[in-house]
Amino acid sequence: MRTFTQSPPELVLTAPERLVTGAAWSEGPVWLPATSRVRWSDIPNDRILEWEEGAAAPLVHRVGVQYANGRALHLDGSIIQCSHGRRAVERERDGRVETLVDRWGEARLNSPNDVIVARDGSVLFTDPPYGIVQPDEGHPGEREYGDCWVFHFEPTTGRLDPIVLDVEEPNGLALSPDERILYVADTSSVLRTDGSGNRHIRAYDVQPGWRCKNGRTVIRPGGVADGFRVDVAGRIWTSASAGIEVYDPDGTLLVRVDLPETVSNLCFGGPDGTDLFITATTSLYRLRTGTTDAAGRR
Ligand code: MG
Repeated sequence: MRTFTQSPPELVLTAPERLVTGAAWSEGPVWLPATSRVRWSDIPNDRILEWEEGAAAPLVHRVGVQYANGRALHLDGSIIQCSHGRRAVERERDGRVETLVDRWGEARLNSPNDVIVARDGSVLFTDPPYGIVQPDEGHPGEREYGDCWVFHFEPTTGRLDPIVLDVEEPNGLALSPDERILYVADTSSVLRTDGSGNRHIRAYDVQPGWRCKNGRTVIRPGGVADGFRVDVAGRIWTSASAGIEVYDPDGTLLVRVDLPETVSNLCFGGPDGTDLFITATTSLYRLRTGTTDAAGRR
């Protein structure tokens, strides 16, 4: 493990601990307080896995899930989740899965990748092409609206609005603690071999009606930023290829921790919310930290 500087309070308290392994490509972790479990996706094996303290192997929650990816807890405890295969954002409640949204006008979405829930209950998600261009992560298909956007969805009215249009292939996303800044990762370089595309995180000022303005690139990680989270102090905890990195909102690198596998995503959780759970290729890792997710104070 390599660790750079840290700012007080100390951010990373332990080395990463591999909890369980056996997935093909892990993504989309969320902590479920009701069951004290972490749930995540094993996308190529088309299944949803869970881990609880003491488990020596992943617990299989569901199989044949149409290539579920990122997920977030809604205010009512239901789980909002992205589905590459259904090209949809869906909700799991009381064991039943229903589609929340799968179209922009007449066009199907591409393959929703990651999702967050705002304090007002609205749902923000990214729609890159990865589930329609990688046969082991979905079904081949076309970009029916011709682009890749970040959307805002209002579950009570069914209203869907694109709110970020200038990220080439939006992937992870998170809000600042006061919800006035939306961060979006661009991973447009990941499937290319010619050196083109981006691997950075952009920030937007959130204006009334969830219009996002003044986009600027604030973080250039030492690897691909796929999924990430923001903590209560506004710091950005991001995946960065074979490691995680922590940044101040101004883009200053505070910490890097190397992992033995490529990291896709992470989430805070555990009994007091200070555990960082990291999905990295075949495995789920845990890191003890000195902070908690911004959403806990929103
Ligand atoms: Mg992702």
